Amino acid sequence: MNSTEASPPSARTRVRRVAQRGHYDRATLYAIVDAAYVCHLAFADEHGVHCIPTACWREGDHLYIHGSNGSRMLKLAASGAQVCVTITHLDGLVLARSAFHHSMNYRSAVMYGTFEAIDGEAKAASLDAFVERIAAGRSREVRRGDANELAATTVLRLALDEAAAKVRTGGPLDDDADMALPVWAGVLPLALQPQAPVVDAAPAGTPGYVAEWLRAARVG
Ligand SMILES: Cc1cc2nc3c(=O)[nH]c(=O)nc-3n(C[C@H](O)[C@H](O)[C@H](O)COP(=O)(O)OP(=O)(O)OC[C@H]3O[C@@H](n4cnc5c(N)ncnc54)[C@H](O)[C@@H]3O)c2cc1C
Repeated sequence: MNSTEASPPSARTRVRRVAQRGHYDRATLYAIVDAAYVCHLAFADEHGVHCIPTACWREGDHLYIHGSNGSRMLKLAASGAQVCVTITHLDGLVLARSAFHHSMNYRSAVMYGTFEAIDGEAKAASLDAFVERIAAGRSREVRRGDANELAATTVLRLALDEAAAKVRTGGPLDDDADMALPVWAGVLPLALQPQAPVVDAAPAGTPGYVAEWLRAARVG
């Protein structure tokens, strides 16, 4: 993958079904990753195939995840097992004139590879980056993880080298023969929307990122 131009997909990332919706450039992929708080991580073990939701963030050309050292998912991912990570943003329900052509608008990403563990100061810095992803500036305000908390936490990263994005936009794609049917057709848009903050404590006033969240909630 490169930053703007499409680079050739691998055998497993080449989108075959509605291939024109496939994208292989980093700009499209990173925009999808950066809009996400959660990914789904698929892996196989002796019990079968699992697909587990977990928090994620991006730094540079890697997707990061973290969690308890005791997590089966993290232990398996840290072992170098092949994984598939997906992210989906649902942007709308597409209501066509026929049942068959109903669809959804979306931005999604499918990423393959193996995770590597991050340790030492790089691990602490990655967790700072995760807090920054939640709220810019917050890593300098909160108590940093202590030695015990860091030791109990696994941080893993996946190089975003083998990935595909798929994006659907626009209205229904009906058959010509159905265009005159007397039925409502169009898109019911959907978005992940901030809601008004719920205060637990504000001893130092309201941080800028909370005020911004409230502004976004009011606009939405
Ligand atoms: C919100 C949402 C709803 C959907 N609803 C349906 C549905 O109801 N029915 C349906 O058939 N399909 C649906 N899709 C599309 C679906 O994700 C697949 O793209 C499609 O089913 C083709 O699957 P395939 O295995 O034949 O893909 P192929 O084109 O054979 O996949 C080849 C490779 O392309 C990449 N790829 C495939 N799909 C995606 C994707 N969505 N995002 C990123 N990379 C991808 C992967 O690397 C994959 O291994 C939906 C997608 C989204 C995001």
